[in-house]
Amino acid sequence: MNAEIIAVGTELLLGDILNTNAQYLAGQLAALGFTVHYQTVVGDNAGRLAEVLRAAKTRTQLLVLCGGLGPTEDDLTKQTAAQVFGDVLIEDAQELARIEAHFAALGRPMTPNNRRQALIPAHGGKFTNDNGTAPGILLRDGEKQAILLPGPPSELVPMFEKRVLPYLRTLSDCVLVSRWLHVIGIPESQLDMQLADRLNAANPTTALYAKTGEVHIRVTARAETEADAAAMADDAAKALQDELGDAVYSADGSDLETTVVHLLKAAGAHLALAESCTGGLLAQRITSVSGASDVFECGIVSYSEKIKQRLLGVKAETLAQHTVYSAPVAAQMARGAATLAGAEYGVGITGIAGPTGGLPGIPVGTVFIAVHSPQGTFVRRAVWTNRSRQDVRIRAATAALDMLRRAVLGLLQPDAVPFCFENEEARA
Ligand code: AMP
Ligand code: MG
Repeated sequence: MNAEIIAVGTELLLGDILNTNAQYLAGQLAALGFTVHYQTVVGDNAGRLAEVLRAAKTRTQLLVLCGGLGPTEDDLTKQTAAQVFGDVLIEDAQELARIEAHFAALGRPMTPNNRRQALIPAHGGKFTNDNGTAPGILLRDGEKQAILLPGPPSELVPMFEKRVLPYLRTLSDCVLVSRWLHVIGIPESQLDMQLADRLNAANPTTALYAKTGEVHIRVTARAETEADAAAMADDAAKALQDELGDAVYSADGSDLETTVVHLLKAAGAHLALAESCTGGLLAQRITSVSGASDVFECGIVSYSEKIKQRLLGVKAETLAQHTVYSAPVAAQMARGAATLAGAEYGVGITGIAGPTGGLPGIPVGTVFIAVHSPQGTFVRRAVWTNRSRQDVRIRAATAALDMLRRAVLGLLQPDAVPFCFENEEARA
């Protein structure tokens, strides 16, 4: 069945608020197997709303509207949609009682315009609002239906999940189930070529989403029952995971920092960080994970050379010989942090986030990332050119997390592809 989403509100047209309801509804409808062909935003204007509704009703079976169900003069959605669907509004005693009880509980007088919220269509239906006063509305005209939802997400989302979703399940003739694989270390363009056959397949579908420093792959299967769709999606995700190997860091939607914290925890290991150009970004990401305290010892933002020497034991000769932006300094930072904390794993990050400060042979965007582990100290030199300062910092933190992941999994080898790791011990 096809569907379209119509968000009502002048504040949306003015850019005062973001249309998060449309994003939410689009995801929900897609998962239910509805094909969404249009999304419209229209202001609080009865004429233009009626125009949008008439056009939508001729081309689409299910219209999902949000906003404009409030008690004020500019809340026109219900009256306008009822007219377009050839229905009339009548006062619902049960809704009126709910609204009166709501105001009594707040100890506030109920103004006459609040009665408008108790109006429901004579031939349609309503969805109870457990988090506010405006009920959701169902309108029908032959094969065509409209569902009207309140604007505030705090009302729309619970109403959708509790009341609307069970109703829509009865309309939909299929179910979509999605699985996510998060991939790091293979660029999107390479995945696009490597997975061309899957990306062109109709069911399950496979889609790539490039993120900063990683790629997310969504596999979606369509079937008559949830169980069939889930089985198809699981099989496809498993096959993809086998093909991509350890580039897949999670298959359950977990982000990279969560994956790393859980791996360290499972290994009973501890972590200490020494960050320069990332300025604590890596520590922030690690500590954003619930349970990080089991593994995380400390993060030192060692920005100056003085602190790198005093706190982390970076050697003056190394700084003089290689500059602060170098593999040996990153390695000494990683080892220094691990030693200071008595941790099995240490990370050192030093580089030039830019946009100023490049040196001969060390362009802006060069970052040295070291991971000290029980297997040795590994350093990667990464160069992200033409990237903003913030982008370089995020990518450096992401790359460090992936090195940590690979270190804990025992996947870090000197000279391993696709990264160029240098074993600092072997180098010295
Ligand atoms: P309304 O029901 O149109 O009076 O909307 C009430 C409030 O809900 C607005 O002031 C917004 O804060 C919020 N809201 C309305 N429409 C949307 C939307 N499409 N996405 C996110 N929030 C919305
Ligand atoms: Mg409004």
